[in-house]
Amino acid sequence: MRAEIQKDILESCRRVIVKIGSSTLTKDDGLHRLNIHRIGDQLADIRAAGVDVLVVSSGAVAAGIRRMGRTDRPRTIPQKQAAAAIGQGQLMQAWEDAFDKHELRVAQLLLTAQDLRTRERYLNARYTIDTLFGWGVIPVVNENDTVAVDEIKFGDNDQLAAWMAGLIGADLVIILTDTEGLYDNDPRKVPDAQLIPLVETIDETLIEATGRTSSMVGTGGMRSKLMAASKCMELGVPMLVLSGQRRDILLELFAGETPGTLFVPSQKRPQSKKWWLARLAQPEGVLHLDAGASHALRQQGRSVLPVGITHVEGVFGEAACVQCVDEQGGLIGHGLCNYPSTEVQQIKGHRSDEIENILGYKYADEVIHRDHFVLANEPIRVGEA
Ligand code: GLU
Repeated sequence: MRAEIQKDILESCRRVIVKIGSSTLTKDDGLHRLNIHRIGDQLADIRAAGVDVLVVSSGAVAAGIRRMGRTDRPRTIPQKQAAAAIGQGQLMQAWEDAFDKHELRVAQLLLTAQDLRTRERYLNARYTIDTLFGWGVIPVVNENDTVAVDEIKFGDNDQLAAWMAGLIGADLVIILTDTEGLYDNDPRKVPDAQLIPLVETIDETLIEATGRTSSMVGTGGMRSKLMAASKCMELGVPMLVLSGQRRDILLELFAGETPGTLFVPSQKRPQSKKWWLARLAQPEGVLHLDAGASHALRQQGRSVLPVGITHVEGVFGEAACVQCVDEQGGLIGHGLCNYPSTEVQQIKGHRSDEIENILGYKYADEVIHRDHFVLANEPIRVGEA
């Protein structure tokens, strides 16, 4: 069964994300250049078959530490950030070298979660990556560790890879790590732990049974693979966890072998804008709505019109994400606002046919269009957008 499902996935795969952990990319004395070259060779083959390849590469911190002649893991956040700053250049140089012999160019993208939470930055990242793909370039993405502190972090690169799947519309995410896949128990402690070849639902029991393993070198561990897999599944994107230590693992996979663990989503792709709104968007202000507008939004799936807005909180530009609350301050949901806060202040309480008179122009009748709004706890709607 796994073989057939996998065959369909690989045959229709046009865009793949391959995330490689520090444990695969580094060794005791620095970057594991041989592994990087081996993975680069396999990715070049996949690229040659017409598949867009995006690499999420860890390893900057580990490489930086070893470059400084140290062996211990950095203890403080500034130490880790400094190590990443030292190692990132080395890491990119290694990828340059690995792909150069295949006449492939690489591009570095350093992102924080904050970059994906703002619609404009999110779209800029997407357009940049689309352009790179159009040029046949391999984007190599890592978290921008130098500036990322907890609030704006992805958590680890497994999550970054999953978010990138939404951003680029990937057909598959592959995580290369230091175990063969997901086991039903910790294989380092329980000798007869069994590899799980196929996962169709992630529930508490699975998390409990498999989530306790963690690698010493990277930051992820199995729990984070499961978190990334559930993000991918919600996005309708299959995810594979494979051993990065196995020499030709990606070629074996594309040749029809079934290594590691395959997570298959049960749902189709959600509308990309709705998904972004529900999972990534960060509200920058609040619109207070009267009872009629609150009801229309909650019960009738209507848009937000200026007439129903009683009060505006916060200063925001156009296309910002804002929350909508009812007269009691209860959260209704959030959406993208067609007008900046200064203009919403002027048109609030007025009919839509008065917008042009007040502002001197009219962008839209609605302050938030229903298609750009998600109710709090609304399930993400399926269908391409
Ligand atoms: N961004 C980190 C690095 O390049 C790795 C984070 C992770 O592996 O989750 O070293």
